[in-house]
Amino acid sequence: MTNKDDKTAITTPGTSGMKVQATAFNWINGVQTTDGELKPSIDPATYDIIGYYPENGLPAAEAAVAAAAKAFSETPWAHDHELRAHVINQLADAFERNRDRLIKILSLENGKVSGEAAFEVDMIPSKLRYSAATALLESGRAVTPKPGSLSVILKQPMGVAGIIAPWNSPAVLTVRSLAPALAAGCTAVIKLPSQVAQTASVMAEIMAEAEDLPNGVINLFFESGPEGSAYLVESPDVPAISFTGSTGTGRAIGAVGAKRMKRFGMELGGKTPVILFDDADIDAALPVIEKALTVFSGQFCMTGSRLLVQDGIFEHVRDALAQQLTDVKVGPASDPSSDMGPLIDRENVLRVDGVVKKAISEGANVVVRGGPVCAGPLAKGAFFRPVLLEVNDNSLSILQEETFGPVLTIQRFQDEAEAIQLANDSEFGLAASVWTRDVDRPLKVAQALDVGTVWINDWAKVYDNTEEGGFKQSGLGRLNGLAALDDFIEYKHIALKPGLHRG
Ligand code: NAD
Repeated sequence: MTNKDDKTAITTPGTSGMKVQATAFNWINGVQTTDGELKPSIDPATYDIIGYYPENGLPAAEAAVAAAAKAFSETPWAHDHELRAHVINQLADAFERNRDRLIKILSLENGKVSGEAAFEVDMIPSKLRYSAATALLESGRAVTPKPGSLSVILKQPMGVAGIIAPWNSPAVLTVRSLAPALAAGCTAVIKLPSQVAQTASVMAEIMAEAEDLPNGVINLFFESGPEGSAYLVESPDVPAISFTGSTGTGRAIGAVGAKRMKRFGMELGGKTPVILFDDADIDAALPVIEKALTVFSGQFCMTGSRLLVQDGIFEHVRDALAQQLTDVKVGPASDPSSDMGPLIDRENVLRVDGVVKKAISEGANVVVRGGPVCAGPLAKGAFFRPVLLEVNDNSLSILQEETFGPVLTIQRFQDEAEAIQLANDSEFGLAASVWTRDVDRPLKVAQALDVGTVWINDWAKVYDNTEEGGFKQSGLGRLNGLAALDDFIEYKHIALKPGLHRG
């Protein structure tokens, strides 16, 4: 065990030649702990062991909640917005200082090619600085509801926020929830999956560099199962849960948390349609459509997995994309010429391949049959080449369920009304991308789409000051923007009766 003043992390050379932590640690009340059975962390590109992590989910969660509850009631954190702004800026400084270190471990453990890892890590400091600014905003208001009455409305932090984030973009998705939780005055317990245990403990080391952060305000643990995060959902000491993950898990934890009237922010799954009209700038669209599929190897909530193409350009777009997707160079993050890294693990390679086989058996036509890489130098890793399937029937599971891998479907539509109908025929409503050179059409279509974000002639633009979240089964509440604070605050009305001054 070490405390925050003792930053002697054990390091050892990983098989990729990079120094990595031998043993990842949970970070609770400012203390690094490695209690629990040690299990291996792997590089998904090679399946080499890159370190070890302790499996200790439930006890770690219990200790973390106790520490966060104590910090909420016994430190100035909940009441001192200047301290919060100052510390959140210190966290931003620490992430800036450690940028390259975090990019390296994220590439190694998460498989992201370096440009994508940098894209993720570079979103963190500004997100924190935006939240630091919101911590300073005057939050309450005063009104005179009746003559002689004065009411004060305060915004108060809810208490301990449980932050459950997935492995696909662990660094930025943790910070996307953590930053507004801290700005609102909550203390936090972060749970990350064990697939990113090494990344998680590098993040903990970085956060521990914030000199004025009281111990216990941020706690972090990881686990391979759901026991610790289930404890967060059930505990009466954790009134707010900010969950990023699949719609199925979101529904399950929502049902459990309902018993305690928990506040849930839910950032869930998606099936983002990309709508390409006849008059679109196809040369501009095609490279973006390719990236919309291959960024993070299709393991992105906003992956543009459902391409809808107007009749007049359908064959041209299909054939051009077929060539592009065949040419995508799959390879490890350590090779700078790789376009797309591995999936997170072999289990997901098998799962995504099963989705493709099922779609073909249900009537999807194969345009590009990528799939698992089973031979050659990449065979040991979790590599999967892009797949393109032509489909006509919108009820197929490949169109109605999230794939979470590099599998693109292409569908034909005749007119604007049909494009909107097909795009909205989904339980998901996270995002959509619309391509046209027309001036009025995209705004008309954008208003008709049942999604939280619409990009016009673009894809995956998210900003710190614009709300992000899903319609329908893609989520509850919003992160980013001012609305993010609402996931972590209670409004309190204090009514006074001073009477009227009558001279
Ligand atoms: P998942 O739902 O399987 O797991 C997410 C987290 O929930 C994990 O940490 C897991 O341990 C935990 N969990 C699982 N069962 C639980 C339970 N019963 N109680 C409490 N916690 C439990 O998701 P995943 O496969 O890790 O991540 C991929 C999913 O996340 C995709 O659906 C993707 O679209 C979604 N996602 C959404 C966004 C967004 O912003 N909307 C961003 C990234 C990922």
